Amino acid sequence: MKEDRKYITAAKALMQTQKVNWEQCKNGYTTLASVKTKVFQFNNFSIKVQFNPGRMISTSAKVDEQSINDRKCFLCKENLPQEQQSVDYKDDFLILVNPFPIFPEHFTLPSIHHTKQNIENSFFVFLYFCRDLNPDFSVFYNGPKCGASAPDHLHFQAGTKYFMPIDLEYEQLKKKFGEELIKIKSLHVFAIDDGFRKMISFEGNSTPEIEEAFQIFYSSFKKITGQDEEPMMNIIGSYQNKKWRVIIFLRKKHRPDAFFEEDQEKRILLSPAAVDIGGVCITPREKDFETITKEKLKEIFTEVFFDESFFLRFKKKLQSDLELYYYS
Ligand SMILES: [Zn+2]
Repeated sequence: MKEDRKYITAAKALMQTQKVNWEQCKNGYTTLASVKTKVFQFNNFSIKVQFNPGRMISTSAKVDEQSINDRKCFLCKENLPQEQQSVDYKDDFLILVNPFPIFPEHFTLPSIHHTKQNIENSFFVFLYFCRDLNPDFSVFYNGPKCGASAPDHLHFQAGTKYFMPIDLEYEQLKKKFGEELIKIKSLHVFAIDDGFRKMISFEGNSTPEIEEAFQIFYSSFKKITGQDEEPMMNIIGSYQNKKWRVIIFLRKKHRPDAFFEEDQEKRILLSPAAVDIGGVCITPREKDFETITKEKLKEIFTEVFFDESFFLRFKKKLQSDLELYYYS
């Protein structure tokens, strides 16, 4: 049992130390304690909005190739702030305290190598993080084109579990809106559309089984979207009762038009990534926090997700690809 909590204990100790010996980190968590939050209740789920000025840099990060090439990578070990310490995770990842937190405890989990953000070859590490940070944290991934502020450096993040509403609401969303695409050995694959979000989820107790199904999903999604690069997705994962739960959000678009609106009155600085979609929308500007409505949220989510007809088509394709793989 002691071994199981090894990384959690180390991460929590790191958090305590860094809040004391790193000014920027201390300020980040002190500010977080006083951020304003409001909750919008929808029929079967809730969406929180958090006014968090500390997230301005991340929300408005320029992620085009030129901007990325022009800056020093902030996840490479040699460029970390002098005060930043780390915990080694297995052979080639680190656990770092995020000094611009959204969660009461917020970690960044970068590779020690400067290698592109990519889930196809790193999904198994994501599963390991879910297991090793259970039950305290949920782990998440933002694709290079839909939320990662360092698309050039492979990384995941972890945050306090149950802080994102989806952590708790997933079961009821699955019951109400889910369809089981396949059940084989310990593995279940579901497709869920709650009217806001289009999701594919994997549940199971075996890493090779989930990994295998994920690769089938990845290739189906890539084919149907006709992309050469990684199709857009955000992923939230956790581990409980010796079982993984991985929710994949299918994205059509990174930032909504309102983000780029020239008219300051109409502009909304909300750049949806895993946490926002998991039910904690971050607005670094107070004006956006004050004026955002349920309708506006719905509009933004609708804009950045695939539509219903695409999802129906994709569900069918994925189901038939899974059946072909497992039954033929
Ligand atoms: Zn780097």
